[in-house]
Amino acid sequence: LRSLVWFRRDLRSFDHAALYHALKQSEQVYCVFIFDKSILQDLPAIDRRVAFIHDSVSELAAELEKMGGTLIVRHAHAEQEIPRLAAELQVQAVFANHDYEPQAIQRDADVGKNLASFNCALKTYKDQVVFEKEEVLSLAGTPFSVFTPYKNAWLKKMYAEGGDFYCRSYPIESHAGSLATYTNATIPALSDMGFTDSAEPRMAVPAGMSGGAKLLEDFLLRIHQYDVTRDFPAVKGPSYLSVHLRFGTVSIRHLVREALHSIRTETVNPGAQVWLSELIWRDFYFMILHHHPHVAERAFKPDYDAIKWESGARAEQMFDAWCQGKTGYPLVDAAMCQLNQTGYMHNRLRMVTACFLIKDLGIDWRWGERYFALHLNDFDLSANNGGWQWAASSGCDAQPYFRIFNPITQSEKFDADGKFIRRYLPQLGKLDHKQIHAPWKLTPMTLKMAGITLGVDYPAPVVEHDAARKETLARYAVVKKVQ
Ligand code: FAD
Repeated sequence: LRSLVWFRRDLRSFDHAALYHALKQSEQVYCVFIFDKSILQDLPAIDRRVAFIHDSVSELAAELEKMGGTLIVRHAHAEQEIPRLAAELQVQAVFANHDYEPQAIQRDADVGKNLASFNCALKTYKDQVVFEKEEVLSLAGTPFSVFTPYKNAWLKKMYAEGGDFYCRSYPIESHAGSLATYTNATIPALSDMGFTDSAEPRMAVPAGMSGGAKLLEDFLLRIHQYDVTRDFPAVKGPSYLSVHLRFGTVSIRHLVREALHSIRTETVNPGAQVWLSELIWRDFYFMILHHHPHVAERAFKPDYDAIKWESGARAEQMFDAWCQGKTGYPLVDAAMCQLNQTGYMHNRLRMVTACFLIKDLGIDWRWGERYFALHLNDFDLSANNGGWQWAASSGCDAQPYFRIFNPITQSEKFDADGKFIRRYLPQLGKLDHKQIHAPWKLTPMTLKMAGITLGVDYPAPVVEHDAARKETLARYAVVKKVQ
């Protein structure tokens, strides 16, 4: 068999399902990555994610070359280029890993049909998640819609096989002899594809397999504290691996193996258990998207589609204030500045800003979801949608809608000394740890001494939380009957 491995969101040369199966089944294996015009054409000229992909693809190409192969890199429409290349190389099969997003599923179906017209097969494999689709079901054989029982069933299945069967690594190296070379495989420059190539759009996290490995190594030194540190945005608590999971420069199976290993050696804190739980959330939301693709457009719980959100010029104005970090609520604004400046936002702050947009400003969660999709380095349809629907209380979560975050108490609790706020809002730097969470409550004299004129140096709050809370309860009354 002569085959082609199509890399997409799995930019690594180790522990890779499709690459392994192709190498095992074929005498000759070509490799390709397409900078897909259908996706890239909607992005701005400066996009950190495209730069990250470019750096990661370059590293992948170098690694495949060391193993005796070549990565063919094209800037084209994947639907057309994959069949064209498959025909040129005269391969009998194209190997790829499953993608669970509705548009990607459609693209793969189109490519598969096209390939079939000249007897070339599209073979796809599970790689991006540990358990997919129908692999974790309730005792009644139905998909779960609540996380905790899903997680228990997930863990039961994992441990039933001795704890690492489902996260064993695919051994690539022993089969690498089948990798084929291709001449004239140059990687198009970012500028050739209409993107700005400068240091500016780069992410703070290092790219590629080497970048993922470095972050993981660093995180494993502090994984045991994760349960206590993960909620405080000023603290280096989480792993920052989300963008690597998004583009597959780390392997989910490797991460789960590391978590299981740490759990076995844990004596004091359940840090690794809590982190594993986060990785299971990731599987959970992919599974939800698979079984309920309507969530990409509408509420998971249909009754929530009846909610009437704010609209018109006032809503646009409020939304702009939120996007720009100018709501007058320091933790919300600092969080939005973190997103706008770095492309990352701490998980606690994603929850706070999303709840604020929906439940303080009364704005449709889909507006926020789209903004995050455009700006998050780690944007992933399933996790982003799951997070937004969680915040809107319209998702698969047992939390009742009347539990509304108070942005001031969230700030006092999770950024108690105001360290995170000061990092992104230096104009509030002279306020002390008690004053910084709600500057509008301070006397004019205190504000003056801190060098702040409200409405000039920092905005007055765009809404009053208690009043907004009441409005939200009234807005959500249409779904009261389903609670
Ligand atoms: P860690 O705390 O180190 O967690 C490890 C990994 O577990 C993450 O990299 C991620 O893959 C997974 N994970 C953690 N929390 C969640 C979760 N709640 N749901 C699903 N997977 C999770 N995560 C994304 O990867 N992409 C998104 O587009 C995204 N959008 C979000 C939007 C909202 C409104 C909310 C509330 C959460 C969103 N999340 C998203 C989940 C979470 O905030 C990020 O995964 C996390 O902050 C990434 O940082 P980390 O890698 O340091 O996470």
